[in-house]
Amino acid sequence: MSTQELRRQVVIIGSGPAGLTAAIYTARANLNPLLIDAPADSEKQTTPGGQLMITTDVENYPGFAGGIQGPDLMLEFRKQAERFGTEFLEDWITKVDLSQRPFTLFCDGRVIKTETLIIASGASAKWLGVPGEAKTPAGFGGNGVSACATCDGPLPAFRNKRLVVVGGGDTAMEEATFLTRYAARVFVVHRRDKLRASKIMQEKAFRNQKIEFIWDAEVREILGTPEHGVTGVSLRNPNDGEHFRLDCEGVFIAIGHQPNTDLFKGQLEMDAVGYIKTSGHSTATNIPGVFACGDVQDSVYRQAVTAAGTGCTSAIEAERFLDHLPAAMPSGEEVTIEGEHISRDHRTIIEPTGEAVSNEP
Ligand code: NAP
Repeated sequence: MSTQELRRQVVIIGSGPAGLTAAIYTARANLNPLLIDAPADSEKQTTPGGQLMITTDVENYPGFAGGIQGPDLMLEFRKQAERFGTEFLEDWITKVDLSQRPFTLFCDGRVIKTETLIIASGASAKWLGVPGEAKTPAGFGGNGVSACATCDGPLPAFRNKRLVVVGGGDTAMEEATFLTRYAARVFVVHRRDKLRASKIMQEKAFRNQKIEFIWDAEVREILGTPEHGVTGVSLRNPNDGEHFRLDCEGVFIAIGHQPNTDLFKGQLEMDAVGYIKTSGHSTATNIPGVFACGDVQDSVYRQAVTAAGTGCTSAIEAERFLDHLPAAMPSGEEVTIEGEHISRDHRTIIEPTGEAVSNEP
C-alpha cells in the first residue's frame, strides 16, 4: 500500500474546546488548518470532542444563559470550525518527529508534514475502575458519579445531598471545598491516613465544618439503583480488611488527571506528571513552532473556557510564527521561523549561524 503524504501550514491535534478554537482562529486567518483526532475507542478512552462529550449540563460556559448539554456545545464548536474551512481527519497518530521543521506526523498509511503544530490532545480523568463507576447504564457515571465538581456540583441532583469525594490531593481538597457550597455534607474518602495535598489546601478543608474525612478507606464499589442513582459506597480499610458502607447520593472521583502526551515524550519538555511545559501567557513549548493549549498543558484550571482561551492563544502564536514574527518561548527568549533567537532583554539576536548581533534600535 502506498503512503499518502500531506503538507500543511498548521496541524492541530485534538478536537476539544482548545483544538476547535485554534481551528476557528487559524481557519479564519486563511491557514487551512488540518485537525486530527483519534477515532472513538472505549478501551483506549478516546472521545472525539474531548471531556465535554461525557458531560451533561454545562452551566458555566459563557454565552449560554440557559445552559447547554456538553455534546451540543462541542457540535457548535465543530460547526463553527467547519464553516471557515477546517479540514478534519480521524486517524491514529503513531509517532511524531519534532526534531526539524516541517514536523512529521506518522499515521497508518499516511505521513503529514507541517510547519506549525498545535497540540490540544487534552487530559483524561483517572478513574478507580470499581463496579458502579462506569457511565450509565453500566454504572452510575452521569447519574450520581462525576469526575468534575465544578462542572456537575451545582446541578440540582447534588444540592443538599451527602456527597463523597475520593482522593487526597489538591484536586480532592478543592473539589470537596467547592462542593460544600451546595451539599449537606461532604465526605473525603482517602486510602491512607495522610493527605498528599499542599498544606494550605489541607488546612482550608480541615477548617470547613461541612467536610468530614474518612481515612484508610478504599472504595470497593459504588452502590445504587437505576431509579435512585447513587445510594452509597462500599469501603474497605486496607490495614485490617474491614468492610463498611457509607450512605451518600453522589460520588466525585478526584484522584488526578493524566495528560494525553505519550506521543511527545522525549521531544517536548514536560513536568513530572506529563503536562507539556509552556510559560506565562504564552502557549509556546520548548520547540519553536510547536504550541500546546488546553488541558494538555494546564493541571490547574482545566475548564472548557480556559481551554478555548489558550486555543485562541496558540492560533495567534502560530499565525505570528508563520508571518516571520518572533514567538515567545518558555525560556523567555523569542524565536523566529528562520531560527533567530532574541534574548530575554531584547538586546541581542543570535543568528542561526551562532553569530550574536545587536538588537538595539
Ligand atoms: P495528585 O496530587 O496525584 O493526587 C491524587 C490523589 O488521589 C492522591 O491522594 C492519591 O492517593 C489518590 N489516588 C490516586 N489513585 C488512587 C486510587 N486508584 N484510589 C484511591 N486514591 C487514589 O493529583 P491532583 O490532586 O489532581 O493534583 C495534580 C497536580 O495538580 C498537583 O501538582 C496539584 O498540586 C495540582 N493542583 C493544584 C491545584 C491548585 O493549586 N489550586 C488544584 C488542583 C490540582 P495517595 O496520596 O495515597 O497516592
